[in-house]
Amino acid sequence: MAQYVKNEEFAEWRCDKCNCELELKKVVVSYLEGSFPVDLPVCKKCGQVFIPESLAIHKMLEIEQQMEDK
Ligand SMILES: [Zn+2]
Repeated sequence: MAQYVKNEEFAEWRCDKCNCELELKKVVVSYLEGSFPVDLPVCKKCGQVFIPESLAIHKMLEIEQQMEDK
């Protein structure tokens, strides 16, 4: 499974609610009819998942391409 977010990219991010550090966790993202496990930054305290909008679009495109290749 591809890793979409590198540790360096979210190292400086903080949760808006609790100002807590984020850690990489496996999260299932739904897209169209399917769902996909991806590693995304999640707040250690409240479990909030962080997906920058630009990253989400990028990820959707990659998933779509993978599906078409089959
Ligand atoms: Zn939090």
